[in-house]
Amino acid sequence: MTLLHHRHDGDGWVDCACGQRHWGVFGSAGLLLVDPERGVLLQHRAHWSHHGGTWGVPGGARASSETPLEAALREASEEADIPPEAVLPSHAWVEDHGTWSYTTVVATADRKVRARASDPESLDIVWTPVGDVSHLPLLPAFGAMWPQLLDQAFRRLVLVVDAANVVGSRPDGWWRDRAGATERLRDDLTGLGPVPAAPLGLPAALWWPSVVLVTEGRARGVPSADGVRVVEADGSGDDAVVDVVAEALRDRPGDHVLAVTADRELRARVEAAGGRPVGPSALFELTRPPR
Ligand SMILES: [Zn+2]
Repeated sequence: MTLLHHRHDGDGWVDCACGQRHWGVFGSAGLLLVDPERGVLLQHRAHWSHHGGTWGVPGGARASSETPLEAALREASEEADIPPEAVLPSHAWVEDHGTWSYTTVVATADRKVRARASDPESLDIVWTPVGDVSHLPLLPAFGAMWPQLLDQAFRRLVLVVDAANVVGSRPDGWWRDRAGATERLRDDLTGLGPVPAAPLGLPAALWWPSVVLVTEGRARGVPSADGVRVVEADGSGDDAVVDVVAEALRDRPGDHVLAVTADRELRARVEAAGGRPVGPSALFELTRPPR
């Protein structure tokens, strides 16, 4: 049989606790690419496949060595010719049955990418306006998830970090070297993501945040780093935090814009600007090395 060419140790059926059989010994993962102008990238599934002829997203079984993101990217590369490096993940949903799970990674891709059916599992790979999706015969599991997927599909997570307040909430000697402490915080944030949704009160399971670190006073001079944009306040750090929150929401009103600070007055101002304050402890929870 020539159809199963990218075989790996995750290929196989699981008799799940839910009473159904699912594909993927270590669970499965798929990629939902979204584009504000083109809609979502769907796969018309080959007739010989499970639920053949329906529409879903590129995806398949995870290998034991892969994260769900890696599996989703590999499957999208195999089935739809999407180069993994062109994909920017936003968030992920996990349908967890205990004995088996399915992760849907929602992402955007470089506009230059030309997706196409690139293996026999796809009859076609088509950008589909979101309003048309529910009119298609959908893969049942994808159809069940579609309303919640759509609700968050075009939203991103922006974390605006009040550096002075967050650094000051951890008694690690920061007062001897504010810039050094701020640089350590920036480095912790560089290694961040994906972050779990629940501690931040967000829907879905995981988010890949855009991080903005607002610095002020003697902590200025810390440069931006991979994945962390540093904004130096001209004057008040609080004003700068509120400005960054307001600006983010002006550009993309649906985004989750969270400001990390324990300062009560600033928290109120962030809320007035349409953002949501979270405490530094939530951030420390996220930046703690995995156990
Ligand atoms: Zn199940």
